[in-house]
Amino acid sequence: MSTQNPVFIPGPTNMPEVLRRACDIPTMDHRSAAFPEILHPALEGVKRVLKSTEAEVFIFPATGTAGWEAAICNTLCAGDTVLAARNGMFSHKWIDMCNRHGLKVIQIDVPWGEGLPVDAFADALKADTDHKIKAVLATHNETATGVVSDVAGVRKALDAANHPALYFVDGVSSIGSMPFEFDGWGVDIAVTGSQKGFMLPAGLAIIGVSPKAMAAIDAADLPRTFLDIRDMKKGYEANAYPYTPSVGLLNGLKTACDMIEAEGLENVFARHARIADGVRAAVKAWGLDLCAVSPDLYSNTVSAIQTPEGFDAGRIVSHASTRYGVAFGAGLGDVAGKVFRIGHLGMLTDVMALSGIATAEMVMVDLGLDITLGSGVAAAQEVYRQSAAAMALAA
Ligand code: PLP
Repeated sequence: MSTQNPVFIPGPTNMPEVLRRACDIPTMDHRSAAFPEILHPALEGVKRVLKSTEAEVFIFPATGTAGWEAAICNTLCAGDTVLAARNGMFSHKWIDMCNRHGLKVIQIDVPWGEGLPVDAFADALKADTDHKIKAVLATHNETATGVVSDVAGVRKALDAANHPALYFVDGVSSIGSMPFEFDGWGVDIAVTGSQKGFMLPAGLAIIGVSPKAMAAIDAADLPRTFLDIRDMKKGYEANAYPYTPSVGLLNGLKTACDMIEAEGLENVFARHARIADGVRAAVKAWGLDLCAVSPDLYSNTVSAIQTPEGFDAGRIVSHASTRYGVAFGAGLGDVAGKVFRIGHLGMLTDVMALSGIATAEMVMVDLGLDITLGSGVAAAQEVYRQSAAAMALAA
């Protein structure tokens, strides 16, 4: 097919043409003098996106999942205790990884649709007077439920308990799209990937590491080779990788950081917030509910939309794909079949979002749901019209 619709999955996201071209470069010798001209600006760009002056950034030819693994296996020892909440598919999978590494997980189960239980974390940290908990894991944006959590609040809980645990934050579906403050929130390791806010194909696991986490690396005894930060650091010091880097993706990342900064990080966040507001207005007009239980938890990168009881939400995703060639996100794990997801992150404009909303309406009407064609589109149009008018006034 010569034409292609935008995707509305919460990553991989739509790729700007300039980034597609930046990834598509001729083969280069990764030991040549040209490579550091790509590597170092990419590392520095990520650091600025993380809002950090102190993080060291490492980029593995892998995906976000490897970023989780790099965080734990570079800083923890077999049998160490970590504190984590399970409130969606991704927090669930990170916990599963910890278990498989022989870590003891203090797991707080939270209904899917709720955020990180900051108070329960505070209680667990206060009760841990002999500091058995070595790390606290937080998923900033649960992509499965469309829930953004209070990462700063967990840092406050750590500080209030005067607890020395490391603080690891999964920002895979938030970094580069929603406010994220590595230094400001006292994050020790932030994890992300190339295929969401950075608008690239999957293939890079990106982590920012604080000086405190760097200091834990030598004492950590969990096995690692490919993901050993020490090898990567040594490599960077010699302008190289400990193995063959994904040069094209790194060039894409360098260019993505330039793009994000040219738009302005705060403007990128504001655009995501505005587009998400329009999607949420549409959901309300359809008479449907989000999986996220309260407005303070609404994610600006993905909306998980509950379908009526007894209706299989997966039908929306498959019908959209087969009839209209449009991709929405399926429900995952505990909410499989109960929600469908509209991803609204990365390279997206108001007008692109309207096409996704319009498609969702056609699909739901086709499938017999009690939705009025145009209702969600009109609600979102009103949001976008008003914000465009306000921006024009402010200009
Ligand atoms: N964490 C979150 C919040 C995610 O959304 C994802 C993927 O969608 C991951 C982790 C895993 O990342 P990857 O699929 O790049 O390994």
